[in-house]
Amino acid sequence: MTLSRRSFLLASGAGVIAAPGVAGLVAGRGGVETANVREHSLWTSEAPPMPPAPRFEGERKVDLAIIGGGYTGLACAYYAKIFRPEWSVIVLESHGLGSGASSRNSGAVSAEYVGISDAEMPQRGLDRLRRFIEAEQIDCDFAPASTLKLLTSKSAAEDARSDLAPAARWISPEELRESIGSGYYAGAVEFPGYFRVQPAKLVVGHARAALRVGAELFEDSPALCVESGRTAEISTPQGKVLADHVFIATNAHTPRLGFFQRSM
Ligand SMILES: Cc1cc2nc3c(=O)[nH]c(=O)nc-3n(C[C@H](O)[C@H](O)[C@H](O)COP(=O)(O)OP(=O)(O)OC[C@H]3O[C@@H](n4cnc5c(N)ncnc54)[C@H](O)[C@@H]3O)c2cc1C
Repeated sequence: MTLSRRSFLLASGAGVIAAPGVAGLVAGRGGVETANVREHSLWTSEAPPMPPAPRFEGERKVDLAIIGGGYTGLACAYYAKIFRPEWSVIVLESHGLGSGASSRNSGAVSAEYVGISDAEMPQRGLDRLRRFIEAEQIDCDFAPASTLKLLTSKSAAEDARSDLAPAARWISPEELRESIGSGYYAGAVEFPGYFRVQPAKLVVGHARAALRVGAELFEDSPALCVESGRTAEISTPQGKVLADHVFIATNAHTPRLGFFQRSM
């Protein structure tokens, strides 16, 4: 199966590929966060344990090194091994695998996304997630759900009620009080077509799936610096990775690594 660079990026989520030739990087503003000080989220306390992952030590040459072990990095590792089974793929996570936003979000899943030009991409993403959960038999409480638009004033409630979309349902203040225990709102509109998920269970499922297809996962292994060249060089506290491709999946931490820094 062939995979273009563009479809690889789409398949892998919202990360960034730094291929050889991309400008070299130095430690970013604020420096990479290395102390393992993250509390577990409530979601994590109710999820199965993450598969154990060692620290990265020594020197290794790999086809693909992924920096960051949340949904994006782990999904990238999974799909890279699916599309390029012959590649050696490793994930370097600075803290615990999945311990960032991926295990501490609200668990709302939708096919809505603002600010992208490809209008069908969010639906493809949702379909891909559903297929992934099914194929890997991930027990993550994935289920249909609806969202509520809560209205705080009587006039907003009247407007919303008289302009109801066909699929939407009006919820009176009385029904709302019964279901959410608050009498603060003047009503709500319920929109179907969403899904919910237990986020920490989902990220454990991502890690297990990535391991199952042959990716190697490392935690407590921050990438301290990425230097590009024909082969990129990633330093960690106890080792060095030489990689033909690097995928940056560090979410909001990315500027600390030297990418996407805003000029002051
Ligand atoms: C409060 C909250 C609620 C949210 N609710 C929703 C929601 O309902 N629905 C929804 O779709 N999205 C929601 N989101 C967003 C969603 O959680 C994120 O989009 C998603 O988790 C991003 O996954 P990620 O893998 O890109 O990032 P992360 O899960 O943050 O993973 C990035 C990883 O990179 C690691 N890292 C950073 N620097 C380095 C380094 N130098 N070396 C190695 N590793 C490094 C971090 O430790 C982290 O584990 C919410 C987010 C928050 C914060």
